Amino acid sequence: MRVILASSNKGKIKEIQDILGVDVVPYKKILPDVKIEENGKSFKENALIKAKTIYDALADSEAIVIADDSGISVPALGGEPGIYSARYAGEGASDKENLAKLIQKLQQKGIKRTPAYYTAAIAIVGKEGQQTVHGWMWGEVIDEARGDKGFGYDPMFIPEGFTQTLGELDERVKRRISHRSKALDLAKILLKKMG
Ligand code: IMP
Repeated sequence: MRVILASSNKGKIKEIQDILGVDVVPYKKILPDVKIEENGKSFKENALIKAKTIYDALADSEAIVIADDSGISVPALGGEPGIYSARYAGEGASDKENLAKLIQKLQQKGIKRTPAYYTAAIAIVGKEGQQTVHGWMWGEVIDEARGDKGFGYDPMFIPEGFTQTLGELDERVKRRISHRSKALDLAKILLKKMG
């Protein structure tokens, strides 16, 4: 079974491959010119858009395409950045710029720490149709970056039950509790059924 991943984010590719325990091929290796329009209104819609775009562009109908759409939401900021997490500081912004923008938003509001949660939606598309699953990780965001592990907003996120950020904690801790791990555990069950 050929599993194609509709993502080119290195951090995600590594996490998804490790958790699923199967080799996944990033779509850019096979379809370097395909552009994905992420114009959905939810994580689920965006994950489905990504997976379907790649599946439809593939010549191989036996392949299975997995897409993940994820992000962080801060209720005190009206749910920002939410589905705009990857482009919070503007189209094409780097993880560092997005992290800096969220820190700046908290500082502007004088918020030192506040509840936040990560969401991951995973879509699986194959010849038998499409499925989606979700996972969440709750915690708090702080108004500074600590540590350099993980990626994205990890240096400012303290998971529930911990005192350190995901930038400081061992990556194995994140694997155990992350939104993506939870969604991938469910995705694993679906993948087994699909062969
Ligand atoms: P996507 O690639 O469109 O799903 O964008 C997800 C964005 O949300 C990433 O670029 C990160 O900024 C953020 N994000 C999602 N999951 C994580 C995570 O596990 N750690 C840190 N940031 C994350």
